[in-house]
Amino acid sequence: MSTSSKTSADPSSAAGPPLGERVSGDAQADARFAKQLLGDLQREMNRLQREIRLAIQSQLAQMSGRSMGSLDANKELAKSIQAMLDAHGLRVRCTQCGQPAILRVSPRRGAPHGVFVFDHTVEGKRTFHGGWVTAPEIQLVAKPARKSRQ
Ligand SMILES: [Zn+2]
Repeated sequence: MSTSSKTSADPSSAAGPPLGERVSGDAQADARFAKQLLGDLQREMNRLQREIRLAIQSQLAQMSGRSMGSLDANKELAKSIQAMLDAHGLRVRCTQCGQPAILRVSPRRGAPHGVFVFDHTVEGKRTFHGGWVTAPEIQLVAKPARKSRQ
């Protein structure tokens, strides 16, 4: 709690060198500072991203081995999971080949509630791996940086 009420300083007249003088300062030092700052920020973001990934992963692990009881509900589940992962730049790791993939539910003969598959591009071709009637083990990986067709 501040008790000073005598002076009501105008914040716009705060002391400090004019902008022009500041940029003409030690540009090299500023560049070093920026580099350091961005490096720190990147590390912090990586740490947070990793925490988010682990938090989502530990929750999704509880879905493993479950089925929602209908094709539509399973599709909806896969869609919700994918939307969440997308928002955080994540993909699921295909348990068959280890590549980043999108979790989907596809209709399949003999599986009235559909099957969970990993949808990804393998050797340039869209490929579906898996095909389980219950949600597979889910491991998260970062979305590949390379821009490709979605
Ligand atoms: Zn795969």
